[in-house]
Formats: sequence, structure tokens, C-alpha cells
Amino acid sequence: MSVVVRFAPSPTGFLHLGGARTALFNWLYARHCGGRYLLRIEDTDRLRSTPEAIAAILEGLRWLGLEGDEPPVFQSERFPRHLEVAARLLAEGRAYRCWCTPEELEEMRARARAEGRPVRYDRRCRARPPDYVRPGVRPVIRLAVPTEGETVIEDLVQGTVRIANAQLDDMVLVRGDGTPTYMLSVVVDDHDMGITHVIRGDDHLTNAFRQLQLYRAMGVEPPAFAHIPLIHGPDGAKLSKRHGAVSVLEYREMGFLPEAMRNYLVRLGWSLGDREILTTEEMIAHFDIRDVGRSPARFDMDRLLHVNAHWLRQKPAEELVRLVEPFLARLGLVLDETGRRRLLDGMAELVVRARTLVELARGARVYVAPRPLAVDPRAAKFLDGANRGRLARLRAVLAEVDAWEPARLEEVCRAFAAREGLAFAKVAQPLRAALTGTTVSPPIFEVMRVLGREEVLARLDDAAAGRNPALQHAP
Ligand code: GLU
Repeated sequence: MSVVVRFAPSPTGFLHLGGARTALFNWLYARHCGGRYLLRIEDTDRLRSTPEAIAAILEGLRWLGLEGDEPPVFQSERFPRHLEVAARLLAEGRAYRCWCTPEELEEMRARARAEGRPVRYDRRCRARPPDYVRPGVRPVIRLAVPTEGETVIEDLVQGTVRIANAQLDDMVLVRGDGTPTYMLSVVVDDHDMGITHVIRGDDHLTNAFRQLQLYRAMGVEPPAFAHIPLIHGPDGAKLSKRHGAVSVLEYREMGFLPEAMRNYLVRLGWSLGDREILTTEEMIAHFDIRDVGRSPARFDMDRLLHVNAHWLRQKPAEELVRLVEPFLARLGLVLDETGRRRLLDGMAELVVRARTLVELARGARVYVAPRPLAVDPRAAKFLDGANRGRLARLRAVLAEVDAWEPARLEEVCRAFAAREGLAFAKVAQPLRAALTGTTVSPPIFEVMRVLGREEVLARLDDAAAGRNPALQHAP
């Protein structure tokens, strides 16, 4: 049997981390099995589904590399087919029209509550003859489900889960206004799309019992179910906005890489030994939905940053320059040819100091920002009067250095400090402030190598003359 899975988001918001992980698990399982991974947009709630949400979800999936193998199916376009199935069930006597009014249903519920019984539809219309009509009432269509025995799911993640049929009432398939319910749409679509494995959040486990009953009534083979535990925040509560960003696209804005997101998300529920870093190929080779754990995974920002830092370092400098460019633009920095050349040259030392593209862009300022360099408040403290004079003297020495390379530059600066009767740090701090505008940067002699003599002398002139403006962006 060839595996067919689907990711079926409801487009009522953005693609959140939990949804992204569900999509990833489906995608991985399909790739692992050599099967197909499909998308279905469950836009049946016409009021809450928006084109913007659909676009944001598809964009989030595209960014993560989890687009469907075929164009997405839109559930709302399939209403006629859903209704056709309901009509067939009705004709076969597996479903029936229910003529109860909202008032009757409310009265039924009130009585059940008063008598301490579970609140369920009492099936009074099930016994009515098929040609029964109550004028002025638009009936709903209900599924006639077994009243005895139990419904059992052999869930690939949760194990055997069962419910007594007496606890499930005859669910509505078609509303009084003639629209199919979500439950009907999902089952008909999964069946028609040939879905073999339904992999989704365990908040849908209770739906699965009802869906199974519908498959049985339709006389078709149900798919295998795998209900994966939800993602929790570090405090153990279900992941939500108050734990920080939940939309996948916000992570793109924060400078995370899609491969790092995939790597991090897969480990929220699945693992390969204690390996923290996994390539997508390794995930595909080893992923089995049956190995997903049953306890909720906890989201941990520090781990995600750690994984992202790893994947940033795997990238060639050219690609990092391309990736960081939009983040530089946000800092108001334009990459010209000189900046691009310096960035390529200095990237190895920049990337080891960054965990995200946002941090990389901040670090890259040293090679990209125009003169006179803006300095952050901490660095500004090192550019006071005494240090300005010292920097002017150092500039004269550096103008004469024979070989412009880190080891030689260090020698010269140390000798200069000694002549000034100062510890080396007392020279290095203002030098770093003048050349980078910050107090944290790659090794200063590496920065000097990348900038080149002319630029270094010009920046020292700026600092000596007190020309550096204060940095506007937070460093
Ligand atoms: N549309 C549902 C959701 O977004 C998923 C339903 C399913 O996977 O069966 O939660």
C-alpha cells in the first residue's frame, strides 16, 4: 500500500508551530515511505477563513519546504460531493432526518441535566418513517450510529483507545441550512483523497471516534490514525502567544533558517538517539510516525537558538551574505560592492558569533555601515578626550606598518601600548570602539585585516576628531 498523508489546516489564523510540526511529521512520513503528501485547506468556516490566512499558511509551508506534492484541495469547493455522500447514507437508512427544533433540543438537554444524565440527543427522530415531514422545519441529517458495543482505534501514537458507543450521539452530518458539517467533510475528503494515514494533533482524538463510525457507515476502509501530542511551553502549559512568537513566519523574521526549524521541530516528539542536530536527509531516512512519543514536547527557545546557530555555520559565505541582506536593510544598511566584499571576507568570524540572521546583521554592521561609524553607548565611553589623542598617535603608527596582516598589526599595537605605558586592553578598547562602533566584535586584528588600511585610518581619523554619531538602532 502506497502511503498518502495530508496536512489539513483551518485557515482561521497563521501557521503556528504546532501546525508546522504536524505538517513536518506528515511530510517526513510520506518521504520516508516513498508516498505522497497532500494539502487540504479546511475553509468550511466561511466567516472565519480569510484569504490572508490561506496565503500566510501557504507561505509558512513554502518557507519551511513543506509544500504539498499537488496543488492544495479546498474543502469548501467540495460541498456538493459531501452532500452526495450524506444523501446516499440517507437512502441506505444509515442516516436520518431529524426534525427537532432548537427549542426541543434545549428542552431535551435541560431534562437530561436535571435528571443527572449525560446530555445527548435522544434519537427520537431515528424511529420516524422516512417520509415523515414536519411543515415549517428544515431538518438536519444525522448519522445513525451503533448504540451498543464500543469503537476502538489502534492509534499509531496513542496505542489502543476505545469509547463506549453509548457515549456518542447521532452526530449531525448536514445542517438545517443544507451545509455539510466539518465531520462529514473531513471524512469524505480523506476518503476521496486516498489518505492512508491521518497524522494530526491529539486534540482531534475524540473526533476520530466519530469519524471512524462514519467510515463504517460509508462502508469504506478507514485510514490509520496517529494523534501526536501537542507542544507545550517551558512552563508545561499548552503553547500559546504568551510563551512568545507562535507564528512560523515570525521565526523567519527573527532570523531563523528553515532547516533549523525543521531540525528543531522534529525533535519535539521524535528523536534519533540523543542526536540534537539532524539533516533533513537523516530525518527522512529514520522517521517513523510510530516512534513519536506520547507525552507533550516542550518548546525551548535556547535549544532552537542553539540548533539555528549550528545551521547558520554550515552555510557558505555567499549564501549568508544573500540571507543577511534583508536583515541589514532593516537596520537601514545598504550593501554596496565594498560592503559585500568585506562581508564575504569576514563572514567566517562573524557567523560564529551569531545565532540568528538578526544577530548576524548586527555583527555585520562593522563591515557595512558607512563612515563616520555610529557608535553604541558602551563603545562611546571609550572615545573620550584622552583616548582620542591616543588613537591619533596610533593612527600615525598604523599608517607606516609594513605588512597589513593580523599578527604584524598585533605586534605593532602591543608595542604602541607599551610605549604609552598602558596595558594592551587600554589601547584595544578604544581601538575596537573606533573601528567597530561596539564593544563586541570579531578579533580586532581580523577586523583590521578585512577593513584594509585605508578604511582603518579613516575610521581612526573620525574617532580622533569626535565625528562618530550615536547609534540609533539598539545594538
Ligand atoms: N483542520 C483541522 C485543524 O486545523 C485539522 C483536521 C484534521 O487534521 O483532521 O486543526
